Amino acid sequence: MEGVDGQLFFEPNALVGFCAGTDPIFLEYKKYVGPFHLTPIEAIERYCKIKEMKCKNTKHLTVIAYILPIHRETKRQNFEYSREWPSEKWAHTRLFGEKANVELQRYLLEELKNEFGIFGIAPSTEPKLFKVHRMHAEAYQGVWASTWSHRHACFAAGLGSFGLSDGFINERGKALRCGSFIIAHELPSDSSKRPASPYQYCNRCGDCVKRCPVGAITFENGYDKQKCSIKVTGTIPYIKEHYNINIYACGLCQVNVSCSDGFP
Ligand code: SF4
Ligand code: SF4
Repeated sequence: MEGVDGQLFFEPNALVGFCAGTDPIFLEYKKYVGPFHLTPIEAIERYCKIKEMKCKNTKHLTVIAYILPIHRETKRQNFEYSREWPSEKWAHTRLFGEKANVELQRYLLEELKNEFGIFGIAPSTEPKLFKVHRMHAEAYQGVWASTWSHRHACFAAGLGSFGLSDGFINERGKALRCGSFIIAHELPSDSSKRPASPYQYCNRCGDCVKRCPVGAITFENGYDKQKCSIKVTGTIPYIKEHYNINIYACGLCQVNVSCSDGFP
C-alpha cells in the first residue's frame, strides 16, 4: 500500500478452490443472478468468437476461484475510524488492492499459458464479456447484476457461503477481495465442499445489521443492494477530499462482526 504506509493489501494466506466448468450450478446461477450470467462454456465460446479464435476443449474447463483476505490492520482501521466513512487503508485497498487483484488474474493466466500451454480467460477483465445489467423484474428489485460473479465462483468452488449482508463468509473472513478465472484444463473439483445452503455459514448474529449506517441489512429482507449502493457511491467526495483518490468504498459491515475473520 505505497500510497499510505507500504503495508500489504492482503494477508498472504489466500484460499483457492476449483470447480468443473460443466458443473450444473452455473446454469442455476441464471435463475439467481440473472439470465445473462455466463456459464464457463458460454464465456469461453463467446471470447473465442470475439477474438475469432478456434474454440477447443470446452468440455474440460475448470473455474479457479480465490480469496484474498484483507489485511488485519486495514480491518482494524476501518472499524476504529468512523461509524459512517471508510478509513484510508480500506479505500486504498478498494482501489489499488482491486487493481492488484485484476493484475493477479492476468498474471496467472500468462503463467499458465507460458509454462504449461494452458489457455484461459478471466471474464471480469474482458470488457466485451463483462457487463453490468440493470434488472427491472420485480424479483431482482431493480438492482444491478453482472455477467460474471467472483463470489458465485467462490461458492461453486466450495470456499464458503453468502451471509445476511451478501458478503462471502469463508475460513479467512468476510473482509476480502476475491477473483476467479476459467482455464481449458481439467482439475479435480472442490464441489463436494460446497455447502447445502447458499447461506450455510451465516449464523444470523445481526452484527452486520447493527454496523450498517443506512439500514441496508435487515433480518426481514436481507441485503438491500439499492440502499447500499446509494451510500457507497456517496462516499466518493469524502474519499477524494480526505484521501485524494477517486473511488467509492464502505465495508463497515465487514469489520468487527462475527464473520470478519473466519466462520462465525
Ligand atoms: S455478521 Fe452475522 S448476520 Fe451478518 S453476515 Fe456475518 S454471520 Fe451473518
Ligand atoms: S457496504 Fe456499507 S452501506 Fe453497504 S451494507 Fe455494508 S455497511 Fe451498509
